[in-house]
Amino acid sequence: MTTFETSLQWHNRAQRIIPGGVSSPVRAFQSVGGTPRYFVKGEGSKIWDVDGNEYVDLVGSWGPMIVGHAHPHVVSRVKSAMEKSSSFGAPGPGEVLLAEEIAARVPACERVRFVSSGTEAVMTAVRLARAATGRNLIVKFAGCYHGHSDSLLVQSGSGIATLGLPNSPGVTQGQTQDTIVVPFNDVEAMNRLFAERGSEIAAVITEATPANMGVVPPSPGFNKFLSDITKKNGALFILDEVMTGFRISHGGWWGKFGLEEAWTPDLFTFGKVIGGGMPLAAVGGSASVMELLAPSGSVYQAGTLSGNPVATTAGLATLELCDSELYLSLDSRAREVGSAISNALTAADVEHSFQQAGNLFSFFFTSQNVSNFDDAKKQDTSAFAVFFHSLLEQGISVPPSAFEAWFVSGALTDDDVDKIAKAASVAAQQVKL
Ligand code: PLP
Repeated sequence: MTTFETSLQWHNRAQRIIPGGVSSPVRAFQSVGGTPRYFVKGEGSKIWDVDGNEYVDLVGSWGPMIVGHAHPHVVSRVKSAMEKSSSFGAPGPGEVLLAEEIAARVPACERVRFVSSGTEAVMTAVRLARAATGRNLIVKFAGCYHGHSDSLLVQSGSGIATLGLPNSPGVTQGQTQDTIVVPFNDVEAMNRLFAERGSEIAAVITEATPANMGVVPPSPGFNKFLSDITKKNGALFILDEVMTGFRISHGGWWGKFGLEEAWTPDLFTFGKVIGGGMPLAAVGGSASVMELLAPSGSVYQAGTLSGNPVATTAGLATLELCDSELYLSLDSRAREVGSAISNALTAADVEHSFQQAGNLFSFFFTSQNVSNFDDAKKQDTSAFAVFFHSLLEQGISVPPSAFEAWFVSGALTDDDVDKIAKAASVAAQQVKL
């Protein structure tokens, strides 16, 4: 039995000053029960909690830590950036270099604007789409999460799904009346909606692949269909690549599947990987739409720390390590880890659906394939909680929710994979008890 007495003490103390003891809801372990671990150190594929317990990390800060923790290249670049000041609130070379790197990887991003979180990137994309089209309606998919802005916090994934909340109090009907929610992968529902209200729709937004209700890959051709139907109706297509951007390939989800299937969104949102673990996100798209942003145009958007020199340095240093070799390694690690766990669950006769999209994957504790949010909600979340705690106890840290993707990093070793496979066998047996 590992002890986590010091984590418990910190959590008790945190709960007296921070709501729920956490700065973001899913970290609270509410859906799996127990005490969240308080982490103090990471190196490569491992993280250590305040009690000195070591874990193989399959959360990766929910995506950003693609090259592992405290990578020496990133650390040395960030250190030297810090020594020159952490912020000027004025333009700097770092943001230009990072914007150029993003545009080189995703040429449809003729212009890029930096913000500090994925939530803000999506807010900006939505505002731009409305301004560009002169229309109000935004279409989103049930179970997709696009951050916690009012208008998109409707039938949302991530923490909202984990906590089983329908929507959020504090968000008024007025704020969501222009948001239409459609089941994911449902071509007919989209055709009906566009037939009825096509001329009012400013944009369709989707996660490049949904990964905030667990991993639910788009059915073949679905993103291309969204691209085509928006174009035909004068609406914009916003591809939310906050999670997938520069994780799935050199050019993100679009760089792999968009190129292959010949579709391109009008606007992209990025976050996570492009900040290398620092608060940084971006919106990108065609010059004609992006130049609507102030001060070129009149669509207002701003941020004290936007394009921060330390964050852009961390992002650039991380992207410098994101080469084709890394993507091959992520893909093969995802396959190895995912199949080892799925095999362990099968051997113990635990019903599950192992779902992958690029190098993202997750396990639904149900025998059915999951293709939308309603399917995802049918899983046995209490089985997941048992599996989660057994893995944690054995030194494997995975997302504390049945509705989240698991993340591999380039720092995972063969020993880590062996350890994960052994722990998964024990955990699977415990689910079956
Ligand atoms: N969009 C997607 C697809 C995400 O996964 C997230 C966060 O997980 C966001 C937007 C919001 O990003 P942030 O948490 O940086 O506000």
